[in-house]
Amino acid sequence: MSIEWIMEGVDPSKVRLFNTAIREKESLHPLREGELTLYTCGPTVYNFAHIGNFRTYLFEDLLRRTLEFFGWRVRQVMNLTDVDDKTIKGAIREGVTLEAFTKPYIEAFFEDLEALRIQPASSYPKATDYIPQMIELIHCLLKKGVAYGGNDGSIYYSIAKFPRYGALSHLKLDELKVGAGEGALHDEYEKESASDFVLWKAYDPDRDGGIFWESPFGKGRPGWHLECSAMAMDLLGDEIDIHVGGVDNIFPHHENEIAQSEACTGKCFVRHWMHADHLIVDGKKMSKSAGNFFTIRDLFAKGFSGDEVRYALLQTHYRIQLNFKFDEIEAVRASLERLNAFVRRLKGVAAPDGEGRPTRRTEAALKGFAEGLADDLNISSALAALFDWLRETNSLLDMKKVSAHEARAALDLLTAANRVLGFITFDEPPVPPEIEQLLRCREEARLAKNWAEADRCRGEVLKRGYLIEDTPKGPQAIKQR
Ligand code: AMP
Ligand code: ZN
Repeated sequence: MSIEWIMEGVDPSKVRLFNTAIREKESLHPLREGELTLYTCGPTVYNFAHIGNFRTYLFEDLLRRTLEFFGWRVRQVMNLTDVDDKTIKGAIREGVTLEAFTKPYIEAFFEDLEALRIQPASSYPKATDYIPQMIELIHCLLKKGVAYGGNDGSIYYSIAKFPRYGALSHLKLDELKVGAGEGALHDEYEKESASDFVLWKAYDPDRDGGIFWESPFGKGRPGWHLECSAMAMDLLGDEIDIHVGGVDNIFPHHENEIAQSEACTGKCFVRHWMHADHLIVDGKKMSKSAGNFFTIRDLFAKGFSGDEVRYALLQTHYRIQLNFKFDEIEAVRASLERLNAFVRRLKGVAAPDGEGRPTRRTEAALKGFAEGLADDLNISSALAALFDWLRETNSLLDMKKVSAHEARAALDLLTAANRVLGFITFDEPPVPPEIEQLLRCREEARLAKNWAEADRCRGEVLKRGYLIEDTPKGPQAIKQR
């Protein structure tokens, strides 16, 4: 593919992303030349991930693909929380080991990632494989005097000893009553009950069944917040370029990660924090605990495809709440089909690979697409640039005013855009022989002016879930999605 013009059209210095810590957009300055490190908080594997979770994972995928589109190499880590309050509770309820309990949810998670064309991270560490690193981090925090042993045998983090505590979430510590309060032992709590939090939770046979690890602090298991700090620093280093998650992670999870990591290393843990707003249903956050959730599998069962769900969850800017409605996915189906039909149409005219010659309009579309993404992943404006150009190019195709070289360049642009979007289909799945046979039957009947027979063959094709599209290369059957 001759894509010099595409490479020239994207400029990484133009990328500006919102940083939660300073509440402003800023440029990226990687710690290592040409490579960005990205830590993404992954799923707690006690259930199937819901589409709210996937909104966040798709935002992270959009971020990663955009950074790569602009020429950076990205080293991404996504953890799997396979030990916490909820996984332990589930394993005990079902009378199985923690590993046996979490395994099917981990497998389902990877299947869902693939169905949504989310690019694989460089690694997916499981919390249970990093217990020694977590113990080491606690040692460090005890040595620095910011951690202490509680009366219950657990180890806690003293947030009063870390003056910057609250900086990310803009909390004012002196306005809060802090100490080893009610929430201390739980992984999740609200801002109002900001308190010292647990680093190592002492084993309680009634609560934990047989699930514990040995440690110098006694039997127990790590706190959820500690898990991410230990895995992130082990795999990406003490300082990370970008750390992301959903807005509910800002407090206390990410605040606690900063407190743990920075108190130990004395370095800036994360340069750039980004958070996706929630997917909501009827005004409420979609969550497993509220019971108002759909999984990806639920949507597939309703007949939606992975590409449609991907498009529907990506098309709203990540810092805006996404109000989930089924008719939104229905609407997406039409937009997606317009893109795919455009690809097929261009393919019917295009010169071979490597022979693209863009028109001014195509270059302008690339510029509009790239500028949209560079502006804090403004997907709406990136898509608008693409669709305006699609409409104009379709009119030119109608008038047969698109040369083979121009059509090739248009396909090159769509290929490049799809490295970010990931939902356009370039290679239609092969058409089964019986459909090919029916297409031939229709053609022969049409040649013989036997319209009734031609209609019958066409009807049979439709009945089998295919549409017939007349292209410059003859009629083509397209699977209806
Ligand atoms: P969890 O498995 O609950 O730890 O959540 C995994 C990821 O999904 C985290 O980054 C959360 O912030 C995110 N998340 C949870 N619920 C939603 C929601 N309704 N909308 C968007 N992101 C969510
Ligand atoms: Zn995390």
